[in-house]
Amino acid sequence: MVLEQVRTEAPAEIVVSVSAATDTGGRPDNEDAVLKVALEMSGVGDAGTHPAYLVAVADGMGGHQRGEVASQLAIETLGRMVAEDPGADTALLLKQAFRRANDVIHQNGRGTGDGSIIGTTLVAAVIRGKYATIANIGDSRAYLVRANQLTQITRDHSLVADQVAEGSMTSDEARQSPHRNIITHALGHRQKLDPKLPSIFEIILLPEDRLILCSDGFHDVVQDSDMVAVVLEHDPPGAVGALIDLAKTLGTTDNVTAAVVRVDSAKTIAARERDLDAVPAGRSSWLVILVVTGIILFVAIVIVAVMVL
Ligand code: CA
Repeated sequence: MVLEQVRTEAPAEIVVSVSAATDTGGRPDNEDAVLKVALEMSGVGDAGTHPAYLVAVADGMGGHQRGEVASQLAIETLGRMVAEDPGADTALLLKQAFRRANDVIHQNGRGTGDGSIIGTTLVAAVIRGKYATIANIGDSRAYLVRANQLTQITRDHSLVADQVAEGSMTSDEARQSPHRNIITHALGHRQKLDPKLPSIFEIILLPEDRLILCSDGFHDVVQDSDMVAVVLEHDPPGAVGALIDLAKTLGTTDNVTAAVVRVDSAKTIAARERDLDAVPAGRSSWLVILVVTGIILFVAIVIVAVMVL
């Protein structure tokens, strides 16, 4: 995937639409949590003229349904911090929000007094105009669909992802590994988050791009080619529903969460609306035929009249 390509493109006015949902999938309870909010952001440059969005997926873990406490705390803390300080540098804001969420979840885990540890993954995207800033910890992922190709934006903090990076395992082996769900970093597990975390990725969106955020209950079972086909076929609400249904049909044994961001050019949307307003083609061509027939008849009558006289 050639991300540098974006620098050669003329700045395009874009319109972003977002949808997200979570489902118990193959389990009785849901320890995943999802967030999708429109933000009031005083943007920098042309980002300020577009609506901004925060989208996030968290996948909690901990005994006695305590995983859902961790994922909810992550989503709530992130949502509150981003909404409170919308004008800030987005990457810095996400780093601070992840750190705060880590503190809140760690304290909550200790507060039970039974020595249980709770934690959660978190992947979050802030979209301001054409600028997307993505942060992650754990193995919930963000993907980019561009020119019919899927690129994984985030890198998992997991045992198998580290082995793939070292070259001791292929990505196909990682997908099949019984250890594929062992994560190396999560929010809430340690008192202080590793200073290198969360990982931050910044991309410039292009018209026709799609972003997918998802938990491992989704990406463990759904193939890359199916993700591309579904998001290109449906609008975001339809795509989210179809992606979750697909993961369940494929027999996921985990909770399933997916969020989809679609990027359109403002020109494409305006053209679509103009087409809807235009006179139907059938009616306009009938008008042309009537007028032409009228002219031919008139000329014929004049010729006959001249000949007779
Ligand atoms: Ca999961």
